[in-house]
Amino acid sequence: MEGLRRECAGRRDVAFVPTMGSLHEGHKALLREARLTGGFVVASVFVNPTQFGPGEDFDAYPRDEAGDLAALAEAGCDVAFLPTAAELYADGGTRVLAGAVASRWEGELRPGHFDGVATVLAKLFGAVGPCRAYFGLKDLQQCAVVRALVEDLMLPVELRWVETVREPSGLALSSRNRYFTDEQRAGAAALYAALSACATGESSAEEARHLLAERGFDIEYLACVDPRTMQELPFPAPGARWIAAARYCGVRLIDNIAAHTA
Ligand code: AMP
Repeated sequence: MEGLRRECAGRRDVAFVPTMGSLHEGHKALLREARLTGGFVVASVFVNPTQFGPGEDFDAYPRDEAGDLAALAEAGCDVAFLPTAAELYADGGTRVLAGAVASRWEGELRPGHFDGVATVLAKLFGAVGPCRAYFGLKDLQQCAVVRALVEDLMLPVELRWVETVREPSGLALSSRNRYFTDEQRAGAAALYAALSACATGESSAEEARHLLAERGFDIEYLACVDPRTMQELPFPAPGARWIAAARYCGVRLIDNIAAHTA
């Protein structure tokens, strides 16, 4: 923490990319965007315990500190911030409660998850002091939670969203894809195909759910939403996104894509 303060002291243009590590091309796209916009680029790597529920994969979450440091150096990151849980949570117990946008979807299925996300981001924003922070649209509801956090707490941080980086098959890159065999990875791309079919109007939500179930997906939700409010939309409006979460071969996947509206 002291090192970070020293590095960031007096910097007026800090661009920040928060991550949980096991960095892949998706994270690198955020870093590239931060680099492109200019300023002093800080990335954090912290597997935040408070955003994992009991029985989730906090202990098993892939960690690769050496690989992450190499990836950050290669991406032209100026400072890598790798706090410990003891450092970030050595406090009097102040916590942030995520707002109404957290109530459905991920928030409903993972109680407390977004409170953990909002809390750690408030801490990281405080520690790093960024002007701009970069987030992936892959975690669409997280973007809505962060936007509400910044607006509600009046934090002086400008938020930038980066589109999802995918494998050629369409599967969204995710640190958790490491859990798949090659064959399972190929099968997992059906989630993107189903969302794409919904986005173009080729399939109804019901047809997509049916197709995914046939292919071995255990669907948790598949819906069309307003990405700002995360409210379900009865029909796709401009700016709407199709979101889905499903378990496939023991791995929980989330994804979303823009609805094509005329
Ligand atoms: P994580 O390490 O999973 O917490 O992700 C850190 C940041 O990278 C978040 O803003 C994610 O939304 C973003 N991210 C994760 N996967 C991707 C991807 N495939 N494409 C673009 N951004 C991503």
